[in-house]
Amino acid sequence: MRYLIISDIHANQAALASVLADAGSFDLIWCLGDLVGYGPDPNECIDRLCDLPHFSLAGNHDWAALGKLDLTSFNSDARISSIWTQTELTQASRAYLDDLPTHVTKGQYTMAHASPRQPVWEYVLDPLIAQRNFTYFETPFCLVGHTHVPVIFYQSNDNPERCRTLAPPYNGPIYLEEINGRMILNPGSVGQPRDGNPYASYAILDTDAMTWEHRRVPYAIEITQERMRARGLPPRLIERLDYGR
Ligand code: ZN
Repeated sequence: MRYLIISDIHANQAALASVLADAGSFDLIWCLGDLVGYGPDPNECIDRLCDLPHFSLAGNHDWAALGKLDLTSFNSDARISSIWTQTELTQASRAYLDDLPTHVTKGQYTMAHASPRQPVWEYVLDPLIAQRNFTYFETPFCLVGHTHVPVIFYQSNDNPERCRTLAPPYNGPIYLEEINGRMILNPGSVGQPRDGNPYASYAILDTDAMTWEHRRVPYAIEITQERMRARGLPPRLIERLDYGR
């Protein structure tokens, strides 16, 4: 099976369209949550995903858009965009988001929006936090999103007391059967990358070849920005798309 692995679309329809066009053929999408929030196209992104074979988790912004969590934990721009999203979601979109789980295990892969320890909230940004999380799942691989930074955390079988951070290779796939260890893999964000690269970020997992491949693709940022402007969304959220920060 060939899986398209995406996360943190954040209602950015132009970015999602570019990822789908770039990905080639796939059997199934695994989406790690945060379909909405920040961006101008929440219903359009949900509808597009629902047209395709997919499985999705819920993220903190999906919960916020449903009123399932307290917005005081959000910064003011995130809060404004979340309140806008609440008013914008159709009944069907709300029902769809409301049904999504926050974590799941499928075969060799555990998935959580944020972390296996705290599926909705924790940011796995460094090897110390990643190391603690390896005890919270039993499969060889865990897929997470939430940070908007594509990265791999690697724990070797020879030294399970330590965890290493690997920058995502863009020159070819990783062969998962050769790694002699376990990994927490983050495909980065489709709709709001924060690693200094504004291109949409995603990954391809091939469970026959047992390969994982990080990918980036440019998209029409100015279309998303124009749609955000037209909806009165916060200027800082519009500008940051240019920089991928
Ligand atoms: Zn997010």
